[in-house]
Amino acid sequence: MSLQPWAGALCACCGLPFPSSHALDSVEARCGECRNHQPAFDGARSYGLYTGNLRKAVLRVKFSGDERLGSHLGELLASTWDSLPHADELQAPLIVPVPLHPSRRRERGFNQSELLAAGLVRALARRSPPVNARLEKSCLLRKRPTTPQTGLSVSARRENLRGAFEVVAPDDIRGRAIVLVDDVMTTGATISACARALKRAGAGKVMGLTLARATPQFPDLAPIESDNTVDGFGQPST
Ligand SMILES: [Zn+2]
Repeated sequence: MSLQPWAGALCACCGLPFPSSHALDSVEARCGECRNHQPAFDGARSYGLYTGNLRKAVLRVKFSGDERLGSHLGELLASTWDSLPHADELQAPLIVPVPLHPSRRRERGFNQSELLAAGLVRALARRSPPVNARLEKSCLLRKRPTTPQTGLSVSARRENLRGAFEVVAPDDIRGRAIVLVDDVMTTGATISACARALKRAGAGKVMGLTLARATPQFPDLAPIESDNTVDGFGQPST
């Protein structure tokens, strides 16, 4: 399965891929959303576009919990690490997977973001010099189940997630650099809501690192809603 990283122009803040480099002619290479509504995270990047083989891989790990695939995809996250804004300032970062609501996690039996985060930590440890990152999967709680984000507007997504996340172990994260890991980022509302909770609890820099970016800006990107027909699984929640 060949997977392609995004190598084109992107938003300096949230990493949204731009269809052409013309957008970089503007004063600041930020997307409209980041200009209008500063996200709570300090920067975010994705490995590639949520399309083709990368989308298939994301869906497979999401619905099968395949640990080997999660590990492999974690290596792709590690290959994206250096493109994170402030990557060189992330000393002994905590890697925090975006949590599922406990009832959803029980039902599914695993959290795909944890599989990706564990693969990322292992891949970072193998680098030379190694990045001394630690998996921290219990400091952040999704305290209420949220309705699926698919089809919601950007502002409705933000509203849907208001107060959804809570830091349960603030002593563990105070002053620490944190990299949030998730499979797919669409508007960034989920990562931003997690980052807001972490910052309020005293975290240092908070970054977002996701495998795939879903964006309607690319005409060849099939609608996200079609995933349930492509793979016979439910719709992505983010
Ligand atoms: Zn942006």
